[in-house]
Amino acid sequence: MPSDSLPALTAEIVHCRACPRLVEWREQAAADPPSRFATEEYWARPVPGFGESRARVLVLGLAPAANGGNRTGRVFTGDRSGDFLFAALYRTGFANQPTSIAIDDGLVVSDAYIAAVVRCAPPDNDPTTDERDNCMPFLVRELDLLTEVRVIVALGAYAWDGALRAMRGLGIRAARKPKFGHRAEAQVGPYLLLGSYHPSQQNTFTGRLTPPMMDDVLARARELAEIR
Ligand code: SF4
Repeated sequence: MPSDSLPALTAEIVHCRACPRLVEWREQAAADPPSRFATEEYWARPVPGFGESRARVLVLGLAPAANGGNRTGRVFTGDRSGDFLFAALYRTGFANQPTSIAIDDGLVVSDAYIAAVVRCAPPDNDPTTDERDNCMPFLVRELDLLTEVRVIVALGAYAWDGALRAMRGLGIRAARKPKFGHRAEAQVGPYLLLGSYHPSQQNTFTGRLTPPMMDDVLARARELAEIR
């Protein structure tokens, strides 16, 4: 029976073991953590989305990090990508604090919901096509339950593609597949899809994505949500 509420969907997601390779990887990360996390108890399960249920903005990533979301149990929490993203969400008024370090750190996001296309940490941040397809129904249902969402911020090309697939799962198709780009915008059915480079270290350490660029995307998301 499909979940009919976000809490029920979350409860369903965290018990999923549909992808054997990812189950093994998430548990292996917990069994053999880097020394800086050696004393921590890892979440080592699928990482659900979180945020405000009546959010107008959905921020979508690729998948949790093995020693980030897979450790803390909250996506974009406890890793460098999350540090970068939440500092920007704070500066643009979507979060009450600039850090996201643990599931009980007091973070509250407003008018935003944060999720990933794939809910388990994949080796090399590279889920297989089957793993993505296994996980996609969760995003489809999440999007359906987030009834106020009008703007989807896709963090990277993978999330851009995942958002379009989730929309198709709801019967919403673009006439032509819009091309991902940083600051690209595409109206697809009721949703405005807004692209951003992913806040990975490859992008943030090299200056491909800077804090002002991330702020600009999130400010644009708010602007679009206001006028929709
Ligand atoms: S990636 Fe998704 S479908 Fe696969 S085990 Fe994790 S939660 Fe389940």
